[in-house]
Amino acid sequence: MSQQERPPGAPGAMAPGPAYDRVEGSAAEPGATQGPSAGRAAPMGRVFAVVNQKGGVGKTTTAVNLAASFAASERSTLLVDFDPQANATSAFGLAGSSPHVYDALSGECVMKGMTRGTELRYLHVVPSGRDLYGAEVELVSAISRERRLERALAEIREDYELVVIDCPPSLGLLTLNALAAADRVIVPLQCEYYALEGLAGLMETVELVRRELNPGLAIEGVLLTMADARNNLSRQVEEEVRRHFGEQVFRTLIPRNVRLSEAPSHGKPVLLYDVHSKGATAYLELAAEVLGRLPAPQPPTPPPSPAFPAPEPQASDAVPEPEAEPAGGTPS
Ligand code: ATP
Ligand code: MG
Repeated sequence: MSQQERPPGAPGAMAPGPAYDRVEGSAAEPGATQGPSAGRAAPMGRVFAVVNQKGGVGKTTTAVNLAASFAASERSTLLVDFDPQANATSAFGLAGSSPHVYDALSGECVMKGMTRGTELRYLHVVPSGRDLYGAEVELVSAISRERRLERALAEIREDYELVVIDCPPSLGLLTLNALAAADRVIVPLQCEYYALEGLAGLMETVELVRRELNPGLAIEGVLLTMADARNNLSRQVEEEVRRHFGEQVFRTLIPRNVRLSEAPSHGKPVLLYDVHSKGATAYLELAAEVLGRLPAPQPPTPPPSPAFPAPEPQASDAVPEPEAEPAGGTPS
């Protein structure tokens, strides 16, 4: 760990090694194919942080279903739940898992020792738990406190082509750790009246982290979530966000879709719950949009064995036939 020590706020003093093979001093434009993927064979270990300090905008839904969609494309993917609410963890039926991400921050356990297999061969999950609430306080006086996650990930990120970090609804120390560890930021925005509120603060934080901690950090895209084509307000918000952020907004729009909200209670990403739903289709499209900016690995490289294999599916785990959408309700 000591060889990765460097003073906080020392851009350019990135730890040596291919995991940090970023383009120095150039904040990548959205969509640019550079940083860890440039000129490297897979796995590339590109790290996406899903960030918005606003609560309930679709961060976890996006992290879970984007990671699952990457994995469905045979891209080895690690989903890191970095929110003490542990919603991404329970979305895979892994609530109460130990060890979890807090143990990696505190140095109790390496991240490789906590990966959980899932029903998707190419997807592993690092779970979270309530202990992580304590980390925010405990880290305040710690050395290199913004780099704990980056260091914990360093020993594992090369094992995966893609890493997705689900962040808590704050711009506190946990989110700073995620931004310091990430290559790209995905910002979900709910299509509602106050969608843009707080976004300036988020963008300033990303800029600050880029300047002080992580020069390779760039915005991958702003993602419009819970969109409802039949709702005027939703359409107006979409227009305004696209006018404001232009090319930085993903082409893919995530619709409001009841299957997306039902899937976590079955411990599954939506594509294993109802692959034909509009929610599943949208996240598969989003994954294709993101992957379209990266070189394709030849051949696909599955991840190493997880520390904890996925349990064999039981007959009782069978996904019930989803009910038909209520007439006039949310389209599937
Ligand atoms: P928090 O800030 O608390 O972590 P979050 O930003 O992670 O929240 P989610 O948990 O993903 O947000 O979503 C909030 C709620 O909205 C959840 O109940 C989720 O199931 C639901 N939801 C998210 N996206 C959609 C969607 N596209 N259609 C329908 N429901 C959705
Ligand atoms: Mg969440």
